[in-house]
Amino acid sequence: MTRSIRPLVAGNWKMNGLKADLAIAAEVAKGYDAGLKASVDLAICPPATLLFTATSGLIGSRIATGGQDCSVNLSGAFTGEVSAEMLADAGATFCIVGHSERRTLHGESNATVQAKAMAARQALLVPIVCVGETQGEREAGKALAVVRKQLKGSVPEGLDAASLVVAYEPVWAIGTGLTPTAADVAEMHASIRADLARIMGKQAAAGVRLLYGGSVKPSNAADLMNVANVDGALVGGASLKAADFLAIAKACA
Ligand code: PEP
Repeated sequence: MTRSIRPLVAGNWKMNGLKADLAIAAEVAKGYDAGLKASVDLAICPPATLLFTATSGLIGSRIATGGQDCSVNLSGAFTGEVSAEMLADAGATFCIVGHSERRTLHGESNATVQAKAMAARQALLVPIVCVGETQGEREAGKALAVVRKQLKGSVPEGLDAASLVVAYEPVWAIGTGLTPTAADVAEMHASIRADLARIMGKQAAAGVRLLYGGSVKPSNAADLMNVANVDGALVGGASLKAADFLAIAKACA
């Protein structure tokens, strides 16, 4: 953790969740007690169809919501796409961009991710820019270089610390139950902080929340959150269980 940075635990529900599943968000809100509120921010990123209802249900809870992706376009003839302004209008605070599932399954390049982050900022959303190497890239000793290139290409210039969150998510750790060692996470997060300093200046970079994501569970959260420069978590599977999500938040607090 970075002492001067208030941690953030964000849940990425991915393509999971019907109206009835908003009970999970309600349960998280119930468990987000004064002690947790004093020390950790929470956000839930449900599918776009639930965003407005989720945000409405969380009013007064101090739990933020976010989109999982946005269009690079502001509006117009882009059937099926959701703009950043629409997410903001539905009550979102954050928008995940460049998740590895978008990069891999939808062929999103760094330039596309950067355009999405800029579209999010234009709608006054805080982009959560995801970066991370594949297993092959780590085994080849290229993890730091790959993530450096992703950051350089995906993070817009000119942002201040409050306008950006970066999530380091090794592709091989997402949904697999595998996690990097604490030493590997420490090395990567220090490198990301240094890379951000070159992109946005040292002072801004020092305040950016750097989340770790990839198979975070209640059983490993404390170890991962104790690593230097880890300022919270981006949580997939475990965010669909209120008790697990709250336990991870507690590990962060
Ligand atoms: C994710 O999809 O962002 C993620 C971190 O997933 P999981 O926690 O399930 O590995």
